[in-house]
Amino acid sequence: MKKNIKDYNLDNLKNLMVEIGEKPYRAEQIFQWIFKENVTNFDDMTNISKELKDKLKEKFDLHVFNIITKQESKDGTKKYLFDVLDGNAIESVLMEYKHGKTICVSTQIGCKMGCKFCASTGVPFIRNLTAGEIVEQLLAIERDENIKISNLVFMGIGEPLDNYDNVMQAIKLLNNQKGINMGARHISLSTSGLVPKIYKLADENLQCTLSISLHAASDKKRSSMMPVNDVYNIEKLMEACRYYIEKTNRRISFEYALAKENNDNLDDAKELVKLLKGVLCHVNLIPINKIENGKFAKSTNENIIKFRDYLNSKGIVATIRRELGSDIDAACGQLRKKEVNK
Ligand code: SAH
Repeated sequence: MKKNIKDYNLDNLKNLMVEIGEKPYRAEQIFQWIFKENVTNFDDMTNISKELKDKLKEKFDLHVFNIITKQESKDGTKKYLFDVLDGNAIESVLMEYKHGKTICVSTQIGCKMGCKFCASTGVPFIRNLTAGEIVEQLLAIERDENIKISNLVFMGIGEPLDNYDNVMQAIKLLNNQKGINMGARHISLSTSGLVPKIYKLADENLQCTLSISLHAASDKKRSSMMPVNDVYNIEKLMEACRYYIEKTNRRISFEYALAKENNDNLDDAKELVKLLKGVLCHVNLIPINKIENGKFAKSTNENIIKFRDYLNSKGIVATIRRELGSDIDAACGQLRKKEVNK
């Protein structure tokens, strides 16, 4: 297979131009065609000579995803199943919010984390997505809908910090003002809690929002939901979070999926308050989405509201995440890797 030119940032392209005997400024032109103009074909790069286009075509492609299916929810959320061109498929979701259009991207084909409540668990892990493949999810939806997407969340299939380098490269591609020009503050990254990578991320000094999938405030409960807790327990996780906040001065968002009679009673809320007291944070309460054969069921609305009100009364800012796309299996934790039959 040819190399995906979307894996190259501007500096990589400049080096490439020098290697193939071209002027470095060509890199900027090509970069703009790819990430700003969102072309699907080298022939559309009208200010590039035929000779250079031929050179590019010989070694590279633009890795344009095919849309296998597109489903639309009654709330306007759209779920795409993309053919990533190697026989695998991944899902991405487009959501409409008051503050703009948000895409939820996948970072891996499958996931190794094994969270008990998540639909990405139970399907085998295949491979990491490359930076170009992560960004192509946004470009493909922008082309299909003829829109500009303003926000991106790394909350689809996969654990972004388990694919650290490619995710960092994708963030750089998204940020570049000559291309997509999406500011880091419009990007959120969610992790199940890979502690060493949280330290590494803190040292990058990015302005992205970090979300931590916490879901329980005691090790016993968290380990029963998330195997990663057996490796990095809550104490280690919170230490890393405090480091992150100190380094970046950014508020962390803790995600807490409420499952009936599991982690949704007042004692759980009390434990959570104790854990987060004094931490610069926000709690995002997610009504858990039941997955096929899953043992966790959604909390009652009454319990969710009580939980939120208790946190707020103790000075922990908590909001309930609006559920989008659950009727098309596009809500949190419902995305799965799918096979393409070729
Ligand atoms: N691996 C990363 C990114 C996935 S993000 C992470 O774990 O953070 C998806 C978010 O949805 C995470 O907070 C995840 O814990 C949560 N989630 C997974 N399954 C869910 C479900 N069935 N209902 C509600 N939230 C779920």
